[in-house]
Amino acid sequence: MIRATLSGEELQALNRRLEGHAPQDVLRHAFQRFFPDMVLACSFGAEDMVLWDMMYRINSRASLVYLDTDFLFPETYDVRDRLMARYAVSPEQVIRVRPALTPAQQAEQYGDRLWSRQPDQCCRIRKVDPLTNILKQYAAWVTGIRRDQAPSRATAGLVEWDATFGLVKVNPLAAWTNDDVWAYIRQHEVPYNVLHDQHYPSIGCTHCTAPVRPGEHPRAGRWQHVDKTECGLHTPDPGPLVKSPPSVPWSGMHSCERRNPGGHP
Ligand code: SF4
Repeated sequence: MIRATLSGEELQALNRRLEGHAPQDVLRHAFQRFFPDMVLACSFGAEDMVLWDMMYRINSRASLVYLDTDFLFPETYDVRDRLMARYAVSPEQVIRVRPALTPAQQAEQYGDRLWSRQPDQCCRIRKVDPLTNILKQYAAWVTGIRRDQAPSRATAGLVEWDATFGLVKVNPLAAWTNDDVWAYIRQHEVPYNVLHDQHYPSIGCTHCTAPVRPGEHPRAGRWQHVDKTECGLHTPDPGPLVKSPPSVPWSGMHSCERRNPGGHP
């Protein structure tokens, strides 16, 4: 078992040093410090596709995890397949993480259309709990969040301690704009979800994602039926940036598909 540690002081210094640098510089530092105990959390949205392209160029043995909630758009599976073909990755590098409950089991235990009645509970079952379990195996995760996406993301650091999941969180695109993302996609001909061309700037589950109208906020199409803006994966850290992160165990075990073994409240 490999253990990776990073003191609060190191984390703070690293974050300060990397501010203003290109996302690739942030990723290179992250690879040097954490690889192979580092993974991209990928929704196959535009930001994540950019990050995957950057990571693969730095180290072709990079890996990603994606949460297959059982409610993804066919277009999302399509861009996953195009990513795997374009970058010639092994199945072990594209790790599919699934909820403990099938949709039928969820309906049986919690009732029909949980997403419309208790979306936080649904997100916990289908996203947060599975991600919590998979991230236990890593020292750092890479995310595509940008500060200008939402007020809840405005203070995101390039490198921060994620108190929710208990590991380092790397946000290489924190300072980028939507235009930066799409300029990169065009320049490097990165595959992307075709729903982005159909007024879906932010893409999640079919039940909770709608197209936006011109001028609307890019995340206005998410959870339109309820007062909810985040699925729980990127909740702001309530404390200061610097904490004392514990040693993070690394099992070294990868699989191309995992169903979350954890229970649910
Ligand atoms: S986004 Fe909607 S359908 Fe998907 S897990 Fe959350 S509440 Fe459930």
